[in-house]
Parts: sequence; C-alpha cells; structure tokens
Amino acid sequence: MTASRVLVLNSGSSSVKYQLLDMRDGGRLAVGLVERIGEETSRLKHTPACGESRERTGPIADHDAALKAVAEELAADGLGLDSPELAAIGHRVVHGGKHFTEPTVIDDTVLAEIERLIPVAPLHNPANLTGIRTARALRPDLPQVAVFDTAFHTTMPESAARYAIDVETADAHRIRRYGFHGTSHAYVSRATAKLLGKAPDEVNVIVLHLGNGASASAVRAGRCVDTSMGLTPLEGLVMGTRSGDMDPAVIFHLMRVGGMSADEIDTLLNKKSGLIGLCGDNDMREIRRRVDAGDERAKLAFDIYIHRLKKYIGAYYAVLGRVDAVAFTAGVGENAAPVREAAVAGLEELGLAVDAERNAVRGDEPRLISPDDARVKVAVVPTDEEMEIATQTYALVKGSENLT
Ligand code: AMP
Repeated sequence: MTASRVLVLNSGSSSVKYQLLDMRDGGRLAVGLVERIGEETSRLKHTPACGESRERTGPIADHDAALKAVAEELAADGLGLDSPELAAIGHRVVHGGKHFTEPTVIDDTVLAEIERLIPVAPLHNPANLTGIRTARALRPDLPQVAVFDTAFHTTMPESAARYAIDVETADAHRIRRYGFHGTSHAYVSRATAKLLGKAPDEVNVIVLHLGNGASASAVRAGRCVDTSMGLTPLEGLVMGTRSGDMDPAVIFHLMRVGGMSADEIDTLLNKKSGLIGLCGDNDMREIRRRVDAGDERAKLAFDIYIHRLKKYIGAYYAVLGRVDAVAFTAGVGENAAPVREAAVAGLEELGLAVDAERNAVRGDEPRLISPDDARVKVAVVPTDEEMEIATQTYALVKGSENLT
C-alpha cells in the first residue's frame, strides 16, 4: 500500500484550518478549524467525510494543544496522524520572499529562511512557523512541505516586481512586490485553461480573486507576469477591510497632520478601510442588500470597489496584450453576480461581456458566463487552495520518492 493521504495545515495567529485529502481520488476525508487559540472560548469544529460534524469548546492554550486536539479527532475517525497512509503534511506559508519559487520540503535551513522573512510578513510567517514546528514535533519522520503564497508570483519580471524607489534602499530592506494568494491564482488559472479546453501554456488569463482579501493577476501562458498585491497584501484592489492602492503621502499626512502613529495607521488601512471603512459593512451580501434598498453609502462603496476592479482589468489587458479569459473566484467572485456584471459592463470594445442568464446561475463547478460568441471568455472558477497545496505537496513527495 502506498501512502496517499496529505494533511493540509493553514496556521493563523489564533487559528488552524486543516483538511485531510486522499490524493488517489482527491476526496476530502476530514475538514476542520480550530479558532480562538489562546482564549477561554477556543473552539474546534471537525467534520469527517464518514459522519457528522463534532465540536469541542473550552480553552485550547496554544498551537501545540490545537494540533494535538486535531490529531485526536482524526484518530477517532481512524484517520490518525500515525497512519502509514499519511504521505506528508503540506503547510500554507504566506511569505516565501524572492527565493522560494516552488513548494519546498521543510528542513532546519528552510525553517530558518522562513524565519528570516518575518520582518516582511510579521503577521503571518510567525503563525505559519508555529504550525510547522508543532507538526514536525508530532511526526518528525514525515515529510513536511511548505507551499508559499508568494511562489506563483516569483515569475514576475523586474519591471512589475520593483517599486520605483531608490534601488539600494529597496534591496537593503527587501522591498519589492511579492504578491499573495498565489496558490489560488495558480489553481484558478490552470482550471480556467482546462475549462477552455486548452493547456495552461496556451492561454492568457486575468484572475480576479475576490474574497475578504482581494487580488488580481495577469497570467501569460501559465506564468504570472503581474499581480495587484505588493510587499504586503495591502496594495491593489479595494478589499473587505483594506484600502488597496492609495497615494503613500496619505500616510505622512495622517502622521503629521492627523497625529496618528505608524501602528494606528497600519490598523486603519488594514482593518478599518476598504468596504468596511467606506460603508460599515465588509460582506458583499449585506452591501448589495443595502444598495438594493437605496442606501447611498453602500452604493458609493460598491461603485469604488467596481471602479478599482475595472481599472485592474484594463491594466492587465494592456500588460497581456491578448486575453483569452477573465476568471472570477473566491467568496465574492464566485457568488456575487452583480459584481461580475458591473466589473465587465462597458468593456464590449475589449471583447468582454457577460450573459445575464448564465451569470445568474449558481454552482460549484467552473463555468463560462460570457455569450457564446465572446472574443474573451468570462468564467467563474471556484478556487480550492487546500487541494492545490495537497497536490503540490504530494507531487513533491512522490517525485522525490521516485528519484531515490
Ligand atoms: P473569502 O475570503 O473567499 O472566504 O470570501 C468571503 C467574502 O465573500 C465575504 O466577506 C462576502 O463578502 C463574500 N460572499 C460570500 N458569499 C457571498 C454571496 N452569496 N454573495 C455575495 N458575496 C458573498
């Protein structure tokens, strides 16, 4: 029997999301989430494929306790971490810097390098590292693979990756555009090619990952050539709580005239801006409900969101020169038909259009929503970051097995 299961771990600062997948058929054996780690009211929700969801509430002190609890839940379903069927653990790592261009088997050197990147990813990499260390302690013998959110974007040319600031200063502080959501952009651009009946290297795709965080990418022949997030996930599109693009001088103004500290501005731009800052809501369902009820602030927020999105579609169209498809994904992109309709409205001259009936249909499968004769296809392609992490992890582990 060859080991065919991969456990995918996505460790946040106070949460761990996990999925156990069987790579023979892509089946999900269990999915779950531990949240509010370190608080009195921690909660673990575990859903095995073979039965009902179970919940544990009560304090879970740290990531170590969280992973042990996850291991117990999996073991209760006969899916324990000690099973010989477990081939590897795949970890989502947010920041891989310039050098991690591929999924990487984790050893002490790789851990040290992820740690070295903490200054450019202070919120995410420490939590990812904690998850890796805890999982390694639980199964030291098992291959553990880091799959980086930035990796897909490392193919960006310098002209897209560099900010136009003094080169020595930028290099001294590793300031450049890294981009994020790479696992999703990789998965969705490939799935879009498949939907068009083409190989990934035959198509140019604009991917719009619109979730609570949001980013766009321009993918030429399977390789990312530009993306909207930068040094951090703050740049680019209007998001649930992040401002996206802004004149950097706003920050100096807030410091000098508004008397705000760097930390206060960081919180303002990352947590209290975007849709929530504009209208008090960051859920597109609620915003649409308010727009339909005639709420002016919600309408302004929606219009600003769409205006920015449209600018990126136009910019990436120009970057690519020829576009075969525009793909919408993530919570908003997959579900909010009015966002898709408005983002593409008026772009007929670019060959882009949405068929109203197709756009209104809901579903879990990749689908085209453009008219049959559209020059550029518009698609809805549900993202699956866990499957992508598992696929990359398994391919790496099996590939190296075949070499030995
Ligand atoms: P994600 O970060 O990909 O999980 O996306 C979460 C966001 O998707 C939520 O904040 C909502 O704004 C949006 N969303 C989820 N479901 C819907 C829906 N049915 N209609 C509109 N927006 C939705």
